[in-house]
Amino acid sequence: MAASHEDPDIYPFLGGDPATQARWLAARGYPPATLLALHNACALRCFFCAGPGTIEVPAAEVTSAARADAQLAARPAGVHRLLVGGNEPTLHREFERLLAAARSAGFLRVDLMTNGAALATRAADWARHGVAEVVVPLYGADAHTHDGVVGSAAFAAVVRGLDAAHHAGIAVRVHTLLLRRTLGQLGALADLVQRRWGTRLGVALLRDKGRFDFAAEAPRFAAAAAAVAAVPLHCRPLGIGVPRCLPTVDEPPPLVAELYFRSQARVFGPGCDACPAARACGGVVAAYAAEVSSV
Ligand code: SF4
Repeated sequence: MAASHEDPDIYPFLGGDPATQARWLAARGYPPATLLALHNACALRCFFCAGPGTIEVPAAEVTSAARADAQLAARPAGVHRLLVGGNEPTLHREFERLLAAARSAGFLRVDLMTNGAALATRAADWARHGVAEVVVPLYGADAHTHDGVVGSAAFAAVVRGLDAAHHAGIAVRVHTLLLRRTLGQLGALADLVQRRWGTRLGVALLRDKGRFDFAAEAPRFAAAAAAVAAVPLHCRPLGIGVPRCLPTVDEPPPLVAELYFRSQARVFGPGCDACPAARACGGVVAAYAAEVSSV
């Protein structure tokens, strides 16, 4: 049974074979691609994620080489784009071999969702193996803020890594969560991302997984909306899985981030009744349902 914060619609995609994944994407208007999800322990301790299943992964649940190879070998005809994600896939012991195997299997482009910690030393090699886009979270414009969220001294390495990826010709895509503790830095972060890597920051809302103090971490919806609206238009964030009443710019997010945040269950609240944007809106994570209102 799905956890209440998850949308089971994504399960056939996450757990499907490549042909099923490609059909699932096509049915929803997404471009042709398949997903390689690599599960293994992550080295960071992000407060909203860290727990059993992410920082400690039993050996039996680590993605086996055989399973990953089978996923690559089953590339459907006409699909040349591979999305790579999971629990920090770059720490999977087979990661680099699988990048080479993906190229041999006929994938011409890899979109990689990563915490960015290894990019500084590996980005150039990964670019040669077909990595065309990296999707990386940054939770603040300085080390104190970012590292406080991820529970590790990671900021400097991630910035160096994004520099290396940019230098290697990889498209850099950065996203963040709208948190109470980071909201005051949203403009500075959006500006940093625009100036340094020539890209627009993506933003998403925190969802309540019941494993942290949601009220202490999540800003009120009105505060989040005001922070987004205060960012100058040239670097105003785009939204990832956010409702239309959050004043983000209307640009598509990176595909692998869009799919990651599609696992969030979203609902409509009383304020959505008669909202003219409702037809184009996917709703909002449940914890905010009572706070959204017609735009
Ligand atoms: S009020 Fe509801 S339907 Fe309208 S944009 Fe916000 S979340 Fe979507």
